[in-house]
Amino acid sequence: MRLVLFGPPGCGKGTQAQFLGGEFNIPHLSTGDMLREAVAMGTEIGLRAKDLMEAGALVPDEVVVGIISERLDRDDCVNGFILDGFPRTVAQADALDNLLTDKGLKLDRVIEIQVSDELLIQRISGRFSCLDCGFGYHDRFKQPEREGVCDICGANRFTRRKDDNEATIRERFNTYNAQTTPLLPYYRSKDLLAPVDGMPGIEEVTAEIRGILNIS
Ligand code: ADP
Ligand code: ADP
Ligand code: ZN
Repeated sequence: MRLVLFGPPGCGKGTQAQFLGGEFNIPHLSTGDMLREAVAMGTEIGLRAKDLMEAGALVPDEVVVGIISERLDRDDCVNGFILDGFPRTVAQADALDNLLTDKGLKLDRVIEIQVSDELLIQRISGRFSCLDCGFGYHDRFKQPEREGVCDICGANRFTRRKDDNEATIRERFNTYNAQTTPLLPYYRSKDLLAPVDGMPGIEEVTAEIRGILNIS
């Protein structure tokens, strides 16, 4: 299964990708996570990306396409993958198309998670994640079962993203509307786009996605 999870910042792409990755036993590929790792490690890519990410702007296409191109070549992608946060521009989508065509592959679906701006802000402003395993939580909508302890790995250290502040969120929405929404007609014209109502709770959204992918 080769999927793209598509939608604005905070719509729930990472949350649903965690479930889908486990369900199909395929990797969850988040360019945001990969870039944050590069920033934390201080690599050359990280140094190029840091200020742009903090400003809510996109990292240059050739940087993210390079990252994804390398990642798709790894063995764990043979049965498929879930892309989260990539592609984000038409140039990235074209590059992905070329990468896959070269391998004789194609995307199965692009799932668009639709959420109102008001709820997106609530989701982003309460977001935090496990520092050890990266699992995602929310102050109101998804607290760890035992306070202060990660459900998945039992660690007790959590982190919040530096770009999840009000000024940067506004800029990320602008960036999404200007540079990323043109991908909707792009994928619709290829008959790949499947919209999902992302407003209800996590399990309900998962159930909708299961329906689209015919998982019983
Ligand atoms: P969100 O979860 O809010 O959608 P991400 O974690 O996917 O955000 O991305 C965080 C930041 O990383 C983006 O604001 C952007 O600066 C950079 N980034 C992530 N993916 C891409 C991409 N495909 N192209 C360009 N920049 C990207
Ligand atoms: P994205 O990867 O699209 O930026 P996330 O998956 O990180 O979004 O979700 C943003 C925040 O909203 C997280 O704190 C997550 O726990 C929470 N969340 C995700 N989906 C839902 C949902 N359907 N209902 C309530 N909260 C959600
Ligand atoms: Zn954890």
